[in-house]
Amino acid sequence: MGATLGTLLARLDPSLSILLVERLDQVALESSDGWNNAGTGHSGYCELNYTPQAGDGSVTIQRALAINAAFEVSLQFWSALVEQNALPAPQTFIQPTPHQNLVWGEANAGFLRQRHQLLSRHHLFEGMEYTEDPAVLRGWSPLLMEGREPGQILAATRVRRGSDVDFGALTRSLIGTLQQNANFTLLPGHAADGLKRQKNGRWLVRVKSRYSGTGRTVSAGFVFLGAGGGALPLLQKSGIPEGKGYGGFPVSGQWLVCKNPAIIRQHRAKVYGKASLGAPPMSVPHLDTRIINGRPELLFGPYAGFTTKFLKEGSWLDLIASVKPDNLKPMLWAGFHNLDLIRYLIGEVFQSHRQRVASLRQFFPAAAEDEWVLVTAGHRVQIIKRSAESGGKLEFGTEIIAAADGSLAALLGASPGASMAVTAMIGVVERCFKDRIKTGGWQGKIKALVPSYGESLIEDGALLRTIRQRTHATLGLAETPTRSHK
Ligand SMILES: Cc1cc2nc3c(=O)[nH]c(=O)nc-3n(C[C@H](O)[C@H](O)[C@H](O)COP(=O)(O)OP(=O)(O)OC[C@H]3O[C@@H](n4cnc5c(N)ncnc54)[C@H](O)[C@@H]3O)c2cc1C
Repeated sequence: MGATLGTLLARLDPSLSILLVERLDQVALESSDGWNNAGTGHSGYCELNYTPQAGDGSVTIQRALAINAAFEVSLQFWSALVEQNALPAPQTFIQPTPHQNLVWGEANAGFLRQRHQLLSRHHLFEGMEYTEDPAVLRGWSPLLMEGREPGQILAATRVRRGSDVDFGALTRSLIGTLQQNANFTLLPGHAADGLKRQKNGRWLVRVKSRYSGTGRTVSAGFVFLGAGGGALPLLQKSGIPEGKGYGGFPVSGQWLVCKNPAIIRQHRAKVYGKASLGAPPMSVPHLDTRIINGRPELLFGPYAGFTTKFLKEGSWLDLIASVKPDNLKPMLWAGFHNLDLIRYLIGEVFQSHRQRVASLRQFFPAAAEDEWVLVTAGHRVQIIKRSAESGGKLEFGTEIIAAADGSLAALLGASPGASMAVTAMIGVVERCFKDRIKTGGWQGKIKALVPSYGESLIEDGALLRTIRQRTHATLGLAETPTRSHK
């Protein structure tokens, strides 16, 4: 998020002086690293939780449309940067990877059928395929059918133009380009640990070396708290009234990673299932082709788990230290009203390897236990906030909290996540640089980066098709991937 905002601001006004403070020795070692997230270019093609089904059986698609349109904004931004040589060859960070669903049982098949009917009529989802035919499914993804009992009711969808994104590689490239700018400074190995607003409206940010413990103070006209799980404690330290009442609920993640290159080569798709009853949206199981740091991988998961750390490299005291008088009520509410979720997450942590492989076999029935190993993923801090109706609420989305004068903004939450970074950061610019974004100069520059800026890709099918043609050609998403990796 910080790399995206820095890139946007540096392009809108190259004379801005930007300091990026990073707690670890390198950037993108937390949630954005390729191994720490699922790398799905979230487009609503395969994420069933973006098309919820109501009690009466009806399916709503508005969220999937919004997420798809937002990802098209990311694709435009990355395309423009590739065209301007500000990002390297797109294959270093984005790969065409079909997005599929697989569900079993008549009720789930009915849901998927209805979802497909509604989505495939919309221009954003043009070309989405549906099948209940095992032979077609075998053609799409042979691993899903290998060793499967005949007679099972199966249903699947596929969108060929899906993508796998190595957000770690992308972030490192964005920062690499920023470092060529004389007005940009990266300060690794330093944690921001205090903020104070001055009378003149500027912020004093205390920055401390993680190794020597020595500190310094930086004066800034604008501060973005893009610290992933570390953003909430910093927001609390800022003391802005807009940040009052927010709390965080951390969730850890793990993957099963395939160690057999022959199996990895046989699969080329992201296959998402349906979350089991009572499971949180971030534990929707999926079997994913990944290209991480240029290497093909096959991952299954995530297995969400209970943790009290806000960052993978965080402290066990993070959760307790975040409880303040202003968020005590929503935090307690969230605790008491989500006991089933906490129980579920603790249960996930204590699963055996055999139990984890049993979940994998619902997707890949012939999976061999000894060919998969467990790897730790990143942490997500879900948002807890005040609610007028009840004492509080737990949310699984992303939210920008900004000071009324636009001098500070923070990003909380991590879903849909890195895929939406460009839309989220344009939102920060619109709220915190209100006057400048309205000027002809900034409007022209933002339109050069995101040609659909100010228009609706949900409403305008012709514009979408023109834009897709360009971005897909530039990013290499137009090619249909073959199953095996080179
Ligand atoms: C298991 C899992 C699966 C996911 N799958 C997907 C997916 O498929 N698609 C998708 O789009 N998104 C996905 N996400 C979400 C996505 O990874 C995040 O939304 C995104 O990477 C967050 O970027 P960020 O810059 O906000 O945070 P991060 O990448 O975590 O970066 C925050 C940085 O701030 C630094 N920091 C923290 N505190 C301080 C401090 N006090 N001072 C200085 N530096 C600090 C950290 O070290 C870190 O480098 C997933 C996340 C998880 C955990």
